[in-house]
Amino acid sequence: MDDTAAASPETGVAILTGEQAQNGFCCPEIVGCRRRVPLLDGRWVPQIFLDNAASTKPFRAVCDFLLDMQHYYSNIHRGTGFDSVFCTDRYEEARRIIGDFVGWDRSKDVVIPVRNTTEGLNLLANTIPFASGDRVLITFLEHHSNDLPWRGKARVEYIPVDESGQIDLDVLERRLDPADGPVRVVSCTGASNVTGTVLPIHEIAALAHRGGALMVVDGAQIVPHRRLRMRPHDDPGHLDFVVFSAHKMNSPFGEGAVVGRRDLFAEAVPYLQGGGTVYSVSLDHVVWADPPDRQEAGTPNVLGMFAMAKAIQVMEEVGMERVEAHEAGLTSLLLRGIRSIREVAVFGGRDPEDVKSRLGVVSFMVADVPHGLVASILSFEWGIAVRSGCFCAHPLIKRLLNVTREQERLFEEEIRNGDRRNTPGAVRASLGLHNTQDDVETLLEALGVIAAKGWRGDYVQNATSGEFHPKDFRFDFSHLPGF
Ligand code: PMP
Repeated sequence: MDDTAAASPETGVAILTGEQAQNGFCCPEIVGCRRRVPLLDGRWVPQIFLDNAASTKPFRAVCDFLLDMQHYYSNIHRGTGFDSVFCTDRYEEARRIIGDFVGWDRSKDVVIPVRNTTEGLNLLANTIPFASGDRVLITFLEHHSNDLPWRGKARVEYIPVDESGQIDLDVLERRLDPADGPVRVVSCTGASNVTGTVLPIHEIAALAHRGGALMVVDGAQIVPHRRLRMRPHDDPGHLDFVVFSAHKMNSPFGEGAVVGRRDLFAEAVPYLQGGGTVYSVSLDHVVWADPPDRQEAGTPNVLGMFAMAKAIQVMEEVGMERVEAHEAGLTSLLLRGIRSIREVAVFGGRDPEDVKSRLGVVSFMVADVPHGLVASILSFEWGIAVRSGCFCAHPLIKRLLNVTREQERLFEEEIRNGDRRNTPGAVRASLGLHNTQDDVETLLEALGVIAAKGWRGDYVQNATSGEFHPKDFRFDFSHLPGF
């Protein structure tokens, strides 16, 4: 591995290889993405950060903007001081930037700030009215955050996925048959956080609307990587609601958004109730405010909103089409490389030529090497940050791994007894804006070594956590920032 990998040590800005520069892609500065990390053998190398589907590192422009804005930080809306009026103005501007990013209709939609996608989907599940017998259709690809909030509100049904990770629209159409009970909501992810599969959300929306259902998109993965438009309200492929998180788009400051139909929010009693959600309160009645205030209980994350909007501006400057092209090129390279390592099996779509219908989220297994061990070797011996486990999509991972009910019961029993050693899972590498061809090639080199069982450390598995650690080695954090 090249210790002088493609980065400037002072700034951490990715320096692009020839091919990327030719494609006209220029990565904005991202803080910390190339910071040096220690390895088991004592060397320090620039880390290769491939855990972007979980969270991304912040844009320098976002951090600088927050440093500027914190001088003015003040509570918004009803304050009359200069800082409050100024922050209110910028907060409402941030709201417009966020809505515009996904193509909202300012007169018919609202942007509701939330902490993250999970909170946004819970907000929707607790806002959309359900009657007894209503159904919610979701796909087998869903993150728990787009599954659990709907359970208990309606009967949740799952649209299966095929080998390539796609759903069959004919199956969806059949499931929308009202003879089986009204479908109130079709809620699906724009892209899977496990297989990277991009779903045809506008076609799904058209079917949902024809069946009388609302269309909700979990945009946590798709929004940071592809241009997403909600489309006009009278378009059959219109998206009623889109939910996403800023921490996956180079702005990890605790913010997310729900963008969607004002009328539904206007009719509903707020999910969270308290300060800011009302026009008038008496001892025996409440006049709720209009949306979006009605859904914004308590003091908002003002700086989080600023950060999210600034990150969107940076991404718009880069251009979402460029983001897509850059990541598609790297995804293709990764899939082509993995194809030549016999022991590595990818979940879902694995055709290097078909990167239009998938993101750079690649989950895989290495034959005869536990997923947690692969992830630890990548970190301790290569400085590569990935993730391993079930990625909050247990039903999907169990299906992909053909885990039987009996096996499921067995390891659940083990977990209850404090033993996680046999928990199923996979390894996930997920690409971001700052990644380069060198990053992908180093990952492929590492996987080749792991597949050939050529790692150097002596790893032990912790039974309680299921994690693997090199024997007698711990990362030393003593010289790093602390409290
Ligand atoms: N949906 C998908 C597809 C995701 O990838 C994630 C995050 N892993 C979530 C929902 C939940 O996002 P958050 O943790 O920001 O609430």
